[in-house]
Amino acid sequence: MQLTDSLGRNINYLRLSVTDRCNMRCFYCMPKEGIAKKEHAAVLSYEELLLIAETAIGLGIEKIRITGGEPLVRAGIVGFLEKLTSIPGLHHLALTTNGLLLAEMAADLHTAGVQRLNVSLDSLRSATFAEITRGGDLKRVLAGLDAAERAGFPPPKINCVIMAGVNDAEILDFAAFTRERGNSIRFIEYMPVVKEEGWQRYCISGEEILRRIAARYPLEPVDKGAFAGPSRDFRIPSARGTIGIITAVSGHFCSECNRIRVTSTGQAKGCLFCDDRTDLVPYLRPPDREGLAAVLRQIVAAKPERHHITREGYGHRNFTMSQVGG
Ligand code: SAM
Repeated sequence: MQLTDSLGRNINYLRLSVTDRCNMRCFYCMPKEGIAKKEHAAVLSYEELLLIAETAIGLGIEKIRITGGEPLVRAGIVGFLEKLTSIPGLHHLALTTNGLLLAEMAADLHTAGVQRLNVSLDSLRSATFAEITRGGDLKRVLAGLDAAERAGFPPPKINCVIMAGVNDAEILDFAAFTRERGNSIRFIEYMPVVKEEGWQRYCISGEEILRRIAARYPLEPVDKGAFAGPSRDFRIPSARGTIGIITAVSGHFCSECNRIRVTSTGQAKGCLFCDDRTDLVPYLRPPDREGLAAVLRQIVAAKPERHHITREGYGHRNFTMSQVGG
């Protein structure tokens, strides 16, 4: 079964957020005071999340990425992942984490059947890391990366949001990481979602990031594998890890977009940056499988052609990535 939108894009990837809570406070992701916590009843139960996953897989979704908030802070996450991996038709289960709890949980995640981990890591310097995350402990994340490999995962892919004047001096250090450790790095353009005062000063394009790396290292393009994301990937010759850029802002890749998103409160979105969202709760409480399948098909059919985040005067309803899951 294939799920195709009105422009012929094959939609086979669901990003499913299991919580909006997070044990970090990255300044570009959420306001300092945090975000108002959702009432317990507003957050979907694991049964409800499984019903969404099962229905989406029945329609043609093949890959699910579990996200948050921070997915590892939700109690019972490992048992939920075990149930998810037993759904026939799910070919690829990945999880995105900030890595703080990975050292303790990597072995259980591997046993549960998670195939890949992405770890968000924006600095390799303790002080900068603590500044960006408002208090995060870099050592714990690095210990988490090691634990993931010991548990049997391939080296986690690292997602790194580069911001001018904050961590752009580390671009080459991250590039060197792909040679030393074998983790692949994906540089993500900073997106103005919180719109903190003076956000424009942080913007640095993926092309500029690549230019700086290419000035120091030779780079060879890398072919994308199945389920590869929207990054353009390169490799320093003989490095085990790759270097990718995700230019969501400067050069949108909407024509290749294969994903839909569901938040932890059951709001489905066909596009990260578009305001349209569809409430799935009426199809979950009580469960209505047919209604849910029909509404998911509608969301895919109505998936916008592209986002307009960079258009002059464009204003979307404020949201934080922690609510949608990135
Ligand atoms: N807690 C998990 C993590 O850290 O990966 C999952 C949720 S987090 C919201 C998902 C991703 O969104 C992270 O890689 C984070 O860096 C990214 N993100 C959040 N706000 C962003 C922004 N303003 N611009 C670019 N990426 C952002």
